[in-house]
Amino acid sequence: MTSTNSYQLALIGDPVAHSLSPRMHNAALRALGLAGEYRALAVPPHQLDATLCRLIASGYRGFNVTLPHKQAVVPMVHELSAAARSIGAVNTVVVDNARLSGHNTDALGFMRGLTQAGFQCAGKRALVLGAGGAARAVVFALTQAGARVSIWNRTGERAERLARDFHAQRVQPDEPLRLHEYDLLVNATSIGMSPQNEQSPTSFDEHASTPACVYDLVYSPRETKLLREARARGAQTIGGIEMLLQQGAEAFRLWTGRDAPLDAMREAIGDDSCCAS
Ligand code: NAP
Repeated sequence: MTSTNSYQLALIGDPVAHSLSPRMHNAALRALGLAGEYRALAVPPHQLDATLCRLIASGYRGFNVTLPHKQAVVPMVHELSAAARSIGAVNTVVVDNARLSGHNTDALGFMRGLTQAGFQCAGKRALVLGAGGAARAVVFALTQAGARVSIWNRTGERAERLARDFHAQRVQPDEPLRLHEYDLLVNATSIGMSPQNEQSPTSFDEHASTPACVYDLVYSPRETKLLREARARGAQTIGGIEMLLQQGAEAFRLWTGRDAPLDAMREAIGDDSCCAS
């Protein structure tokens, strides 16, 4: 059993080798002088239940959950935050006396990126590309903040379900994206992620206006093709690294009760920019 003064933390998912979370959270523990370690654990679906039992028995204080377990963990926790319940996915679990509480810090992390960029959502028109787990958190956050949200996804049924869950609009998969009709464009698909750096989920029409703000959840590369083109057309751009940092900061606060040392975390993941360009 680990000392209760030590923060044993983990990321569970499969794969996890690429994750920046261990660097980010270990830097945070060190910066605040807290004992403990954050480890990345590759856990296939059939070992999820047994892994949770083992972590609790070993004195772990919390863990992050990533693909493919974010939804599978929902029925395994004792309590759910309101956001996790609405989104239907958990990315952060706090362990307290063997009781598990499930949270979703992706929505807050996404929204902090927007707020820091000075973007006000109320009454604004937003187009979200994608309907996976990250898109659910984004659509939840945007509708809560009063934006009018439309959703496009390659697989139309997933967009339809997401739109229904959050009273949003759906754009048909084969319908042209009239980007000039939106104030905010969010890429919540994995298109443009390294090594497919030269792919983009959409392109801008040179004869029409570009959304004022373009937010790409992809954080590798730091500036995707979508963001590069949006910036060249005068849009404000936000990269996914800010959401990564902010969702991690909120998870760290939930586990430790301490404000996360953002500068140390930012430095650990090699982010030398500020939140928005
Ligand atoms: P997911 O649940 O697997 O969803 C993937 C989404 O991408 C789906 O909408 C899928 O469409 C779409 N997609 C994938 N390949 C496509 C292609 N070739 N053409 C069109 N659509 C395609 O993954 P997720 O967890 O939502 O993550 C999505 C992205 O967000 C990833 O790049 C992830 O790294 C990023 N993310 C970033 C943060 C952050 O903190 N910055 C947090 C979470 C996620 P279908 O439904 O048609 O398959």
